[in-house]
Amino acid sequence: MTQTDSTKTLLKTVECSFFKWRDFSLSDRIAIVKDIRNRLLENKHEYARAITTDMNKPIQQALAEVEKCAYLCDYYIENAPTFLKDRKVTTGWSESSIVFRPLGVLLGVMPWNFPFWQVFRFVIPSLLVGNTFVVKHASNVPLSARALEEVFNVPTINFPIYKNLSIKSDEVAAVIADPVIKAVSLTGSEQAGRSVAETAGKYLKKCVLELGGSNAFIVLDDADLQQAAEKAVKARMQNAGQSCIAGKRFLVQETVYTQFLDLFKEQLNTLKTGDKFDESVNFGAMAREDLAEELEKQLAESVSLGAKIAAGGKRKGAFFEPTIVTDVSVDMPLFQQETFGPVAAVLPFKTIDEALTLSNQSDFGLGVSIFTTAPEKIQPYLPLFEEGAIFINEIVVSDPHLPFGGIKNSGYGRELSEFALYEFSNIQTIVIK
Ligand code: NAP
Repeated sequence: MTQTDSTKTLLKTVECSFFKWRDFSLSDRIAIVKDIRNRLLENKHEYARAITTDMNKPIQQALAEVEKCAYLCDYYIENAPTFLKDRKVTTGWSESSIVFRPLGVLLGVMPWNFPFWQVFRFVIPSLLVGNTFVVKHASNVPLSARALEEVFNVPTINFPIYKNLSIKSDEVAAVIADPVIKAVSLTGSEQAGRSVAETAGKYLKKCVLELGGSNAFIVLDDADLQQAAEKAVKARMQNAGQSCIAGKRFLVQETVYTQFLDLFKEQLNTLKTGDKFDESVNFGAMAREDLAEELEKQLAESVSLGAKIAAGGKRKGAFFEPTIVTDVSVDMPLFQQETFGPVAAVLPFKTIDEALTLSNQSDFGLGVSIFTTAPEKIQPYLPLFEEGAIFINEIVVSDPHLPFGGIKNSGYGRELSEFALYEFSNIQTIVIK
């Protein structure tokens, strides 16, 4: 486990920046985040092109991703002063208070599927606390990585608060071990999460892990089926299915199963394919051919065990047709594993108890969507879902106002909302007698 001299020098540089940045007042840090936000929006078309070029996301979705990052900045610009305010506490001492201090240089290890959004949601709250950053971005999004380094380093301060680490994944452990690094956040696969957590554990460094998911999308017999079918296509097919919070296992009450399946298939026709830079296109190729091949294997193995392809199913290079599969059972890869592409596995259920059991029958626990016109019916079951988020009549999404993260093999820790600000803070107690 060694690091190159250039990595060591880079870490030292960002540590020097930390010693300056931590002395900025919160209002000065907010001014810098405003600058980041403004330059992000000024250059949004250029940044969206970088995303689309890197990983094939249709340009309309890349643009929406960049705009969502600006929205996240607005949220923290408005709310950080309240969330990070010193708190007085009444105790037996003369004065007691809680204050929020930064930790130092943080390491981010980031994925390619939302190359801007994942980085922004990690960086912005912790930057406002006073931390600085080194980021190892996914190796297949070099243009996005370069653009992010550009946007985070504002011209008005003459030291770098964010630097890219151009290293391979097997060099990450040595960086975590370096005394300059105080904590690490990884968004990525379960396998990468285990590896990062192992090293972070060895060196007693805090880590946040945002890992995979295999969300259930439950349709009850009283649901608005047309709405549920429209949402099902969005939940599974946006970003070519490459989303941790995508609906992946579609559980449909048996009395409406055929009707829902017909509507789901019909809704696939709303997807428009074509040139990824055409703003009207909303479905495109996956990020890499090897990822599409992996999905093809999961599908073929499930078909060999009895699953049936109801729509799509073919692959050409990195392009995978929007696919619906029926007759899926719990022993198949399409049910047991995360499918990171546009393949929807559909299963019938009889009772809500059965839907709950199937939903929880997963190593992951990121989120679940439930469609019903009688939400009160599902209310008593909510505490029993093993998930980080439950959305009723809506697909699972990330929103700056709400905490985001999972349980079980989906990881630990939270991003977004007030809670993100405390993950990488030294929450310090001060007592005066
Ligand atoms: P990945 O292969 O785990 O890669 C993510 C990042 O980790 C990349 O920068 C990668 O570098 C690095 N990495 C890979 N193996 C590593 C290791 N052993 N040690 C240290 N770093 C390592 O994941 P991905 O394919 O990019 O992303 C898809 C996965 O991310 C899916 O499982 C998805 O569900 C999950 N995800 C989760 C969330 C969430 O918020 N929960 C959000 C988005 C994605 P290289 O690129 O150089 O290999």
